[in-house]
Amino acid sequence: MPKPVKFYNWIIRNAVILDGSGGSEYRADVGIIDNRIACIGDLDGRECESTIDAQGLCLAPGFIDVHTHDDIHLLNNPEMLSKISQGVSTVIVGNCGISASPVSLNGPPPDPMNLLGNEHDFVFPRMRDYAAAINRVQPSVNVAALVGHTSLRANHMNQLDRPANQGEILAMREDLALALVDGALGLSSGLSYESAINAPADELLSLAKELTKSGAIYTTHLRSEFEGILDAMKEAFTLGKESDIPVVISHFKCAGVANWGRTLETIPLLQQAASKQEVACDCYPYAASSSTLDLKQVTDDFDIFITWSDPHAEMAGKMLADIASEWNLSLLSAAKKLRPAGAVYHSMDEADVRRVLQYTDCMIGSDGLPGDPHPHPRLWGTFPRVLGHYSRDMKILNLPEAIRKMTGLQRLNLGSNNEALLLRGIMPT
Ligand SMILES: [Zn+2]
Repeated sequence: MPKPVKFYNWIIRNAVILDGSGGSEYRADVGIIDNRIACIGDLDGRECESTIDAQGLCLAPGFIDVHTHDDIHLLNNPEMLSKISQGVSTVIVGNCGISASPVSLNGPPPDPMNLLGNEHDFVFPRMRDYAAAINRVQPSVNVAALVGHTSLRANHMNQLDRPANQGEILAMREDLALALVDGALGLSSGLSYESAINAPADELLSLAKELTKSGAIYTTHLRSEFEGILDAMKEAFTLGKESDIPVVISHFKCAGVANWGRTLETIPLLQQAASKQEVACDCYPYAASSSTLDLKQVTDDFDIFITWSDPHAEMAGKMLADIASEWNLSLLSAAKKLRPAGAVYHSMDEADVRRVLQYTDCMIGSDGLPGDPHPHPRLWGTFPRVLGHYSRDMKILNLPEAIRKMTGLQRLNLGSNNEALLLRGIMPT
């Protein structure tokens, strides 16, 4: 009997394929049936509805932006131009301890939850409510969500500048357990922020017990990216080890002039941990960071650019040093007057950025801030900058390796919580 002839909806012909494994590129055709890849190979002479001639072009899986703060932005801007214009087809939200769900607030969101939106945006007491809202708006990217530790604290604590008590930890655990059933990938923390810095390691460890049960992951914005970074990394590794869960260090960096060059210490420490447990990291390809305006980071060692200010919106787009001299104030006094505010800190050394980018288990994640009126360019530029600047021009990564860090390697950040699938789109393997 003759084999039935497959009829493809689309065939992309003559593409140079980078499959995300990190292996060498190869030339092939790709056949698509019902929006899924049905065949990669020689499809010469095969029938299809439409053809794309990819002669001279590369073809890769859609990029996964493992580190985003798109939680609310996805709902208000489902076209997600900042991401699809970079080739990103999946985003992971809820990083750095702040997630849109599960959240029940009685008042304005605490810093840095205010990076995501205003009080009226936090309307998802359960992760399944958020998932339903995502499915309603059908954004142009797939979405997976982490639960923010700070969001859980905001649900149950009247003050965030202290450790949670046993009752509060229990309530947070319940929220987390429900969210994992509803489809969350795991827990994120933002331990350097005032809203979580007084949460002791034990508080996180209690919550992490929930992650073990469902094979979920822990991602962490470390307690310190400055002088105390080694201890902060060890705290994260200990949590991973004691809970038997994968750990991802978020936007891995050495911040602050006194800390420049210390990736020569931090990367070996990460490598050493990776030989004993499941740990990885993500990073964005820039030597400047961005967040809310943090008084601890105010210094004249490097430039600080103000992206927004609630009390002084007219100062957005200026350097803190210029604002301070205009007001005849010290940098710190000017910063206090500007808060709540957002900032870009030129706090990293380029050599450190390159070493982290080259680290084998470092995924690419933008950490873009879509709600910022003067966003750090990482929001729109992360993936092209890795490919164009760092891979093609600077040659610090070859192209298959750069694509692996945007696709295949990202699976590390998806955990194995197969019960709790992603909100839209991705199937576990
Ligand atoms: Zn962060």
